[in-house]
Amino acid sequence: MEIITLVNKFLLEEELKIRIAKRIQNVPPYLFSEIDKKKNKLRAEGRDLIDFGIGDPDLPTPMFVVNAMKEFVEDPRNHRYPPYEGTFSFRKTVSEWFLKRFNVSLDPDNEVMALIGSKEGIAHIPFSFVDEGDYTLVPNPSYPVYNVATILAGGKPYFMPINEENNFLPEFDKIPVEILEKTKILFLNYPNNPTGAVANLEFFEKAVYFAKKYDFLICHDMAYSEMTYDNYISPSLLQINGAKEVSVEFHSLSKMFNMTGWRVGFVVGSSQAIKALGIIKTNIDSGLFVAIQQASEVALRDDSNFIAKMNNIYVRRRNLLVSGLQSLGSDIKPPKGSFYLWVKTPKEFDASSFTERLMLETNIVVTPGSGYGSEGNKYVRFAITVSEDRIKEAIERMKSKSIQF
Ligand SMILES: *Cc1c(COP(=O)(O)O)cnc(C)c1O
Repeated sequence: MEIITLVNKFLLEEELKIRIAKRIQNVPPYLFSEIDKKKNKLRAEGRDLIDFGIGDPDLPTPMFVVNAMKEFVEDPRNHRYPPYEGTFSFRKTVSEWFLKRFNVSLDPDNEVMALIGSKEGIAHIPFSFVDEGDYTLVPNPSYPVYNVATILAGGKPYFMPINEENNFLPEFDKIPVEILEKTKILFLNYPNNPTGAVANLEFFEKAVYFAKKYDFLICHDMAYSEMTYDNYISPSLLQINGAKEVSVEFHSLSKMFNMTGWRVGFVVGSSQAIKALGIIKTNIDSGLFVAIQQASEVALRDDSNFIAKMNNIYVRRRNLLVSGLQSLGSDIKPPKGSFYLWVKTPKEFDASSFTERLMLETNIVVTPGSGYGSEGNKYVRFAITVSEDRIKEAIERMKSKSIQF
């Protein structure tokens, strides 16, 4: 990839005395920085923006978690360095949640580790597995961290197209054998950001088969494990027989309990892989604030159906936005998972020109699909992190400007 970020270009043009590493120069542009700039400019002009661009829940962390945290933060035992791998109590609670949710048993001592948000673990894991010249398999489109972390670790991403034709599931048998032989990690993410696609156990079985055949690790990002609709329940990759030997799964309380700002997640699966990730982590961070781990245990033990109630809100928003977009000519179908709608742009527009048109003409902010990979060039992503009233208003605005999909 030859793209140089605006920031990096700026650094180069400035002829800084301080020379930045090639590693940084090779990082593709940060997706949101350009949009953020335009957004801020329009906001400064006093425009009333409706922002579907942010993959961050607008709803608050449940009060029972906030209140528990208040108590835990006061305990002086929590003010000291936490254990690197997470407290035993946190890991045990995770394993209990996992057994109840997926019917998969995990050894809290070796098969569970706390993370400072799942992104932290996802970004660090290539450093434990990828050597110079090694490949990782990265879906196109996908969450940008898989690609960037691979590059930072000195590896090369091999992009697997996911699109309507393949139901947004990578086709492993289309990957050249020479690549598979040099592959160290396969990244998967279901329910999927940005497409909203979901995967079944049959697909995961295929992934495990390839991982065993070519000796690589599967990293399954399940940040949206609980955000599913229409009675669909997302399976874990670890439900596949033997998957634990070749895979880890990243989970997060961010979207599950509206805790993005708290920075808490966990990795489960292969004890060898978790140990290898731990070697990187123990040398970089010093673990996760114990009070946050304790509050997270309270969240994971919730018996008040918080998630189901929240999903009801998302379903109403999803249905409203889907039917609104359909009334404007879009062929979008309601996604079963995540909180994103992956919407084809009108024929005469690509992702960035349509994003720009929406922003300038209707003050509606979306994310251009191209930011997630070339397969997203004719898509924009709507996040349903916006209230029903504002969704209605957005549809009205698009109607009044005769936007036709
Ligand atoms: C939000 C998100 C994450 C990051 O979650 P954190 O636990 O907050 O770091 C990981 N993967 C995907 C696909 C996401 O959308």
